[in-house]
Amino acid sequence: MGLTEIDLHKELKRYFGFSQFKGLQEEVITSIVKGNDTFVVMPTGGGKSLCYQLPALISDGTAIVVSPLIALMKNQVDAIRGISSEHGVAHVLNSSLNKTEVNQVKSDIRNGITKLLYVAPESLTKEDYVDFLRNQKISFLAVDEAHCISEWGHDFRPEYRNLRHILKRIGDNIPVIGLTATATPKVQEDILKNLGITDAKTFKASFNRPNLYYEVRPKTKNVDADIIRFVKQNEGKSGIIYCLSRKKVEELAQTLQVNGIKAVPYHAGLDAKTRSKHQDMFLMEDIDVVVATIAFGMGIDKPDVRFVIHHDIPKSIESYYQETGRAGRDGGEGHCLAFYSYKDIEKLEKFMSGKPVAEQEIGHALLQEVVAYAETSVSRRKFILHYFGEEFDSDTGEGASMDDNVSNPKKQHEAKDDLEL
Ligand code: ADP
Ligand code: MG
Repeated sequence: MGLTEIDLHKELKRYFGFSQFKGLQEEVITSIVKGNDTFVVMPTGGGKSLCYQLPALISDGTAIVVSPLIALMKNQVDAIRGISSEHGVAHVLNSSLNKTEVNQVKSDIRNGITKLLYVAPESLTKEDYVDFLRNQKISFLAVDEAHCISEWGHDFRPEYRNLRHILKRIGDNIPVIGLTATATPKVQEDILKNLGITDAKTFKASFNRPNLYYEVRPKTKNVDADIIRFVKQNEGKSGIIYCLSRKKVEELAQTLQVNGIKAVPYHAGLDAKTRSKHQDMFLMEDIDVVVATIAFGMGIDKPDVRFVIHHDIPKSIESYYQETGRAGRDGGEGHCLAFYSYKDIEKLEKFMSGKPVAEQEIGHALLQEVVAYAETSVSRRKFILHYFGEEFDSDTGEGASMDDNVSNPKKQHEAKDDLEL
């Protein structure tokens, strides 16, 4: 049977139990099954994994999946094994395997059992693995979290830069799939160029979150009181408050507690047990508010977070989008409130001063966008989406009225006063 005759809906149901594709999944999968280089940009939670997992499961040979985090890979492999009776259908190849385990992986690949082989980019540089893979049938290479290839992304990993070179050694005509939740045009350009897939079929989902309300308020010395008032007005709702430093996290959590708000701190300086306890308390709704550094959030899936407050402005629009994106996952209300003072920008600039010049320049450019966002007097949603290369009509677009500048426009002179703070 030719691949074109495959009923993708049937395969989706068979392997994953879903009756419908989400967003652009079907189009993406069709492109991959046809053997195209393919580029996928979808927000977090959009369902990118399935875009390569399903084609891998129904193709001949093994798909190589590059992913930056071992924990992430393990989760995915466990999930795949849960849906297929064939034991070796998915494997992780990494430095933690012993000789016997590596041989088992190799034998499963050779026998055509393994459909998905997850590797960290640094493992893929191993001569032994490259030599082995060169002689196997490889269906395609999927590069997940592909923004790691770009210095303009928030998680640059130099090892990602070698992928194209290694791939050439593994085989000549292996299709490449890049996937990312990073929507900035600059990062996307970097990905396509570095993976050598500038002609890739590209699929971009919208990054608009119509149920989120965006608001920026000037940050004064009364910011903590402002936050307490906001939280009290939203009693019983779940929220996250982001601060830049661990010290501020501790202080603010305590201030909230003293004021009768059920809040806990979360940052990387707390031991693992405390962190997981505080996370659970939040998920179980024993507490309402987590005061956190950016260490909090990755992989946390609480659908009914009702507000995300930034006590300190983040270092890029992308970070802001990711962090506020944790609000309103269920489609319900999600208030995103940022406190802004230009002094905080100067502080962030100062933090970067010890870094290499190239990094400083990038950091500075990203910060300037944050300043522009905070100081704009037009639609914040339009600003964010424009930053991600997306057109948005601030009169008729979905969620158009959901920000302070649109629902409560500043008068011209007030906007100017703000700039002179
Ligand atoms: P991303 O990598 O884009 O952040 P994931 O691949 O982790 O997203 O998928 C997010 C969630 O969506 C997962 O829980 C996944 O099971 C679910 N999902 C993916 N595709 C579908 C679908 N077609 N129908 C229902 N749920 C889906
Ligand atoms: Mg993903």
